[in-house]
Amino acid sequence: MSSQINESVIRDVIQEVLGRLGNDTNLPHTAAVSSSASSAVAPSGSYAPPSCGCDSKKSSQGGRHGVFATAGEACDAAQQGFLQLQKQGIEARRKVEEIVKTMCADRATEWGRIELEESKIGRLDHKIEKLQIIKLVPGVDWIRPDARSGDHGITLEEYTPFGVVGAITPSTHSIPTLAGNIVNIVAAGNAVVFNAHPAASRCAAMAVREFNKAIERETGIHNLVCIIEEPTLDSFKELCAHEAVRLLCVTGGPGVVKAAMQTGKRAICAGPGNPPVLVDDTACLKRAAESIIQGASYDNNLLCIGEKEVFALEHIADDLMNAMQTAGAVRLNGSQLQQLTQAAFTFKEGQGAGCPHPVVNKDLIGKDVSVLAQAAGIQVPNGTDLLFAETDENHPFVDEEQMMPFIPIVRVGSVDDGIRAALKAEHNYKHTSIIHSHDVNHMTAMARALDTTLFIKNGPCGAGLGLGGEGYLSFSIATPTGEGVTNPKTFTRVRRCVMVDNLRIY
Ligand code: NAD
Repeated sequence: MSSQINESVIRDVIQEVLGRLGNDTNLPHTAAVSSSASSAVAPSGSYAPPSCGCDSKKSSQGGRHGVFATAGEACDAAQQGFLQLQKQGIEARRKVEEIVKTMCADRATEWGRIELEESKIGRLDHKIEKLQIIKLVPGVDWIRPDARSGDHGITLEEYTPFGVVGAITPSTHSIPTLAGNIVNIVAAGNAVVFNAHPAASRCAAMAVREFNKAIERETGIHNLVCIIEEPTLDSFKELCAHEAVRLLCVTGGPGVVKAAMQTGKRAICAGPGNPPVLVDDTACLKRAAESIIQGASYDNNLLCIGEKEVFALEHIADDLMNAMQTAGAVRLNGSQLQQLTQAAFTFKEGQGAGCPHPVVNKDLIGKDVSVLAQAAGIQVPNGTDLLFAETDENHPFVDEEQMMPFIPIVRVGSVDDGIRAALKAEHNYKHTSIIHSHDVNHMTAMARALDTTLFIKNGPCGAGLGLGGEGYLSFSIATPTGEGVTNPKTFTRVRRCVMVDNLRIY
């Protein structure tokens, strides 16, 4: 009783003070009192952030809406957000999922443009589409307990939250990765703090602010989704080291995967890929050509799952390239390829075992076909989605994850030879590989040899994420750490609840 009186007195005082300051006095729901109480009710052993006796309502009314200057502040606020979510239960998680999905759909055009203007990579139509499809990311309904029942009673295994998840997002799809991660992570009952890529961090912070405003309005929960306004390598380190952060979700290239694995925290790593495509002589070449163009040109080939190099059996390679031209791709000749290669890579002496080692020129990553064509010394018709050229298997465009709307085509003498070359090009990332074939033996051989997380047969890469194939969507595909296409269960701890010798009714 006395704590109720205290809470109500505190609430009134805060209302009055805020009213005098001219702030919004409409304290929603139970957030004001519940978060101040929440440190006290934090489960034993869990992190309780430092408290000045105020509550997280104060910071949100100060206009933070999840956007913080430091990782420490963001993690402390997210921990409070987590405790508030815990109190409000499944319905609040469902509400957050709905808010994120609806907002991404409603604001896809505006946010797609903002992200493209900031990052300067990719295509507007696909930036917009990547936000429209956030609705396909699995949410709260994926969290279902498993139960067993027998002569000794019943046992329930529940998928429960970790607390605060630290998440790192790439420049290639900043808001879509952030939004998809929020749906998964909050559906599992967690809060999250993001360290976005600096090249696409302003749009990420804007989205976090907007999500929080709606979450605050609809649920009264503050700072469930937090972000560091100006992310740096130091803020990454601080985030990873923070006591409240129990789990990491990293989406990016080899550098950040390595860094995350060295933190000592459990890390779910969605790492780099360099997806090879094998086309044999049983394939439908029209379908193969159209699929390769669709996948490799998507968002100017920024997708980690995007087709990056093609190995075609010698005697159908010309037919495949003709089919690609018929489908609208533009073929470069040898000298045009050479010009493009010189522009797309720099060759640094002394790297790669003493040999000049190509490094992708960032200025051409994710740029439009017209920019690449200009670098190759040609003009292409408006609406061209992809360039291609014949190369050998050691070409930098085959070896490097180049992320440009260009794809090299390599002739191979046999399926075995193609699988060998594909394995080499994939660099053991175990990310994505694709085959166009109607021979089940060829499919099986490639699946076994490459052992990739996604293996797509007779479709574009997007089919591996439920876009034209069966399945579900995520923009974080955990490859080196093995969780696969991330979903809400990826961000849970499995806890067992056992009733001995009872409640088994029959
Ligand atoms: P990136 O590796 O440059 O950056 C990714 C994130 O990691 C950014 O937030 C960046 O600031 C951070 N980062 C980079 N190096 C770091 C380090 N040493 N320590 C701490 N943080 C670091 O990648 P990008 O160019 O933004 O994105 C493209 C890469 O991400 C490609 O390799 C692509 O395959 C991969 N990717 C993978 C998936 C997946 O689901 N597996 C999804 C998208 C992108």
